[in-house]
Amino acid sequence: MTDERDSRADQLLGMHRRITRRDLIHGAGVAAAGLPLALSACRQEPGERFYPPTLTGMRGSHPGSFETGHALAREGREFGRGRDLNEEYDLVVVGGGISGLAAAYFYRQAHGESSRILILENHDDFGGHAKRNEFHQGDAMRLAWGGVFNLEYTEFSPVVHRLLDELGVDIERLRSRDDFNYGADGELGAATFFDAETYGRDALAPGFVLRHGDPARVLEQVDELPLSDESRASLRRFYMARKDVLAGQDEAGRTRYLRGTSYTEFLREHGELTDEAAELFVKTTHGYWGVGADSLSVAECEGAGLPMAHLLGGELTAGDGSVSGETTAFPDGNASVARLLVRSLIPDVTAGADNEDIVSAVFNYARLDEARSAVRLRLNSTAVEVAEEGGAVRVTYVQADEVMAVRARHAVLACYHSIVPFLVPDLSEAQSQAFRAQVKRPLLLTNVLLRNSEAADTLGVTGAYCPGRLHGAAWLVKGIETETYHHEWGDSGATVMQFWGAVDSGARGIDVRTQHRASRARLLEMTFEDFEREVRTVLDGMLGPAGFNAAEDILAITVNRWPHGYAYDYLDLWDPEWPPGEAPHEIARRPLGRIAFANSDAGAYAATQVAIDEAWRAVGELPG
Ligand SMILES: Cc1cc2nc3c(=O)[nH]c(=O)nc-3n(C[C@H](O)[C@H](O)[C@H](O)COP(=O)(O)OP(=O)(O)OC[C@H]3O[C@@H](n4cnc5c(N)ncnc54)[C@H](O)[C@@H]3O)c2cc1C
Repeated sequence: MTDERDSRADQLLGMHRRITRRDLIHGAGVAAAGLPLALSACRQEPGERFYPPTLTGMRGSHPGSFETGHALAREGREFGRGRDLNEEYDLVVVGGGISGLAAAYFYRQAHGESSRILILENHDDFGGHAKRNEFHQGDAMRLAWGGVFNLEYTEFSPVVHRLLDELGVDIERLRSRDDFNYGADGELGAATFFDAETYGRDALAPGFVLRHGDPARVLEQVDELPLSDESRASLRRFYMARKDVLAGQDEAGRTRYLRGTSYTEFLREHGELTDEAAELFVKTTHGYWGVGADSLSVAECEGAGLPMAHLLGGELTAGDGSVSGETTAFPDGNASVARLLVRSLIPDVTAGADNEDIVSAVFNYARLDEARSAVRLRLNSTAVEVAEEGGAVRVTYVQADEVMAVRARHAVLACYHSIVPFLVPDLSEAQSQAFRAQVKRPLLLTNVLLRNSEAADTLGVTGAYCPGRLHGAAWLVKGIETETYHHEWGDSGATVMQFWGAVDSGARGIDVRTQHRASRARLLEMTFEDFEREVRTVLDGMLGPAGFNAAEDILAITVNRWPHGYAYDYLDLWDPEWPPGEAPHEIARRPLGRIAFANSDAGAYAATQVAIDEAWRAVGELPG
């Protein structure tokens, strides 16, 4: 009976509907450019030129990218010495993310333009987390980011500023065309979506915003929400209270409490919220931190814009749900930075000069790994050993089940740190443990191309926080333009709805690294169909009342799963204060002979500027 019901529900959502090629062929420009068209969960057609940004279905850590790494690290598989390719390089970089690409760039500057460099990357596309999803199923190309989005330019070091200047990135120009605000751009501002499965009925509440929200608007709407009477009353009490729950404590005592107590514990104890009401806040930090507010301290959540000041002797400030902070972005996020780096390293892959044309540049992937080029980028290649041998570094890697080896004067490991102990046999136990401490935070970003944004426009919203769903938030992607790419808010045609979040570990309250591992396992177990059903259900509940038809109005779905997502940054509740120079990432990143270590893990902070700074440091540490 349940199966029958489920399958009827699936039919209404369009789960078993094939998105046909005919539905997709609106992108005449794509066909003209010789680019492949994408299906809902597609691979490319034989004979089509390989162009991974247009692939839909399961992306991010896609099938084929991680199996060798898991065989090495989880199963202890030995790959042997492999076939010697007799290729000699000045530098081999492991990892083609921003950090690895920047390391190649800095190395070439330091050692000369003719330096021979090989970059090994285990995915079928470069950029690491900085990838783009390109959709051609609507009238015009629609871009979205598959991972890394913003440039936090106020945090840039002189090294980062210089690199981006040299690549032609004009921050002021990007800012002047960036009108995107994570779902807060609609007529009625940001919103919260209460879903039927969790809350009994679907309810979209525009203006009801917990993070950076306006308490008056929350109070206005609380009576309409599908929550228990006790929870609504507790929310009302919470927002109306004005007190200092730490009165009488000195500064040190206050700090100890704020850094030693989880935000949800604070809400229950001093905010007197019911469990149901406190739970509403948990996912507000998912996208921002990669962990829930239950695993973050009160002090950390203050920085994330969650309400607390009115219980600590201050006042609540009213916001509209906009995320403050000085950042800007390309329409495809920092994939443009990765593409600029690749264009600079291997100019034959595409033409162009700057900031503006990189967004619409079409890359010829066949040119990435050519013998005549000084810099080569080898995709689908997983390094399995990096070891010094006879005055050089021997790098063994696996591509399509074949084990091969190359040699280089130097190596920079710009891959995630947790795999390094399995690659480098000569590490000390202390350094190996330090690498293992970098347990990245799993993240999920699913882009869904909608036929149009009419239903959202009718409702006056551009997205919503979704406390009960897998992805904690969803928003329309519009309003970021360059000279060659246009998608303004007034355009109600095909548009991407981006679903964004961290996968709940289902293991609350335990050590946060263990939570991350549990969340990673869950993420990898989920099938494309699970994600598809999830986004169709949410879109149906959220936009259905305004005429959206999940069976008809979804043109493509791309799931970007990142089991190894944000770099682990130390958290108040889970990490001690390390003496200077003794934090795990500082021990891990110490160079070892001809091998140096980059990646944002080396800075213990998930940001593009950190990935670049760490590449700069690593290249500078290589011996002559
Ligand atoms: C979903 C998401 C959103 C983010 N948003 C932002 C943002 O808005 N702004 C921001 O500044 N930062 C953001 N970040 C942080 C992001 O991690 C950094 O900005 C930066 O892109 C990290 O680059 P990296 O090169 O250090 O690592 P990665 O991007 O992880 O690149 C490392 C590469 O090495 C590869 N690799 C691993 N092992 C091997 C091996 N054995 N052989 C070959 N290759 C290997 C990996 O698969 C990967 O492709 C985000 C991260 C995620 C996951």
